[in-house]
Amino acid sequence: MVVGVLGGGQLARMLALAAYPLGLRIEVFDPAPDACASQVAVHHCAPYEDETALARFAEGKACITCEFENVSLEAMRFLAKQVAVRPAPPVWEIFQDRLLEKQYLRSVGIPTVPFAAVDPQRPDEALEQVGCPCVVKTRRFGYDGKGQRVAQTHEEYRTAVAQLAPHALLVEAYAPFERELSIIGVRSLSGEIAVYPLVENHHRDGILRLSLVPARDDTGALQALATSYITRLLESLDYVGVMALELFQVGEQLLANEVAPRVHNSGHWSIEGAETSQFENHLRAILGYPLGCTAPRGASAMVNLIGELPSIERVLSVPGAHLHLYGKSPRPGRKLGHITLRADSEAERDKRLQQLYQQIGQNVPQLKRDAS
Ligand code: ADP
Ligand code: MG
Repeated sequence: MVVGVLGGGQLARMLALAAYPLGLRIEVFDPAPDACASQVAVHHCAPYEDETALARFAEGKACITCEFENVSLEAMRFLAKQVAVRPAPPVWEIFQDRLLEKQYLRSVGIPTVPFAAVDPQRPDEALEQVGCPCVVKTRRFGYDGKGQRVAQTHEEYRTAVAQLAPHALLVEAYAPFERELSIIGVRSLSGEIAVYPLVENHHRDGILRLSLVPARDDTGALQALATSYITRLLESLDYVGVMALELFQVGEQLLANEVAPRVHNSGHWSIEGAETSQFENHLRAILGYPLGCTAPRGASAMVNLIGELPSIERVLSVPGAHLHLYGKSPRPGRKLGHITLRADSEAERDKRLQQLYQQIGQNVPQLKRDAS
């Protein structure tokens, strides 16, 4: 059986690697000739507007899925006439647009920071609803912190709006969060749902650097709240596949930041750190197979390798370290790979994490909550 993936980056690559043991094959569609999934999967290299290439891609596929938000909706709708697309195109329409996304979250009772659409003729009206400090974001095409500006004052807000114009914009209140968390859930064709342990995420310059699983210092209340939110999203959308929900923790409250209707960087730890990885469970879900157990195997950390690569020997010298390189050429700010560190206890994981950072010559990130 062959599954088609729109997009041929590292997520498609890891989907392909998870597919082989199940006897499945992946083919990817990506206009970039050097798409890194092409090293492990058949690559259809053509623009998303090329309907002849899309039709050929759809031929013989069990279903089609997608590895990135900003996929062309026209391409998706075109494919959906020929073959099942999971999750379905309407889901992508909502989560491609940060305004529709936040409106949807609110409509199903999931709290978010206050937000408002920016009217380019009267930008001050949106700020009145939200106040300062705030974050101005493009409604579409943002990722890894791109397409957004933090503004402390009214004047900075106006500058941010001018800088990001002419794109359609929204403005959000700046969340005074204690930490960032994410919850990853999966729903299968038959409606079965499974949810992974809550993940604690640390970003720098808008890019995820480190994930810790399970999130520290949770009595179970945060996990229960996050599980109820992701379950509500999966069910209300009749969703099929893996979904990630990014959250801000403010006191005991969780505010939804954004939804990724796909496998997610904060779920990479699950390859070694969970009974079943997010990649395998996504494939199981979209093909209508029973879901795999999402229980953690001990405690894990995931360290992203951004911009440059460390010595392989040094990484592999750390007990419990598993290296994943994506086969991409180094470039500043580019995600080149990740390391999952697994241990039987959080204390042992933290010890190994110190060792790992030492080996790769990076400073241990300042964690707002002390891990020890
Ligand atoms: P993306 O991940 O698509 O680039 P996000 O909306 O998740 O966009 O923003 C990236 C990061 O910027 C977040 O993980 C968070 O650290 C910070 N951020 C975004 N929105 C807010 C906000 N309203 N308040 C505080 N920080 C924010
Ligand atoms: Mg994000």
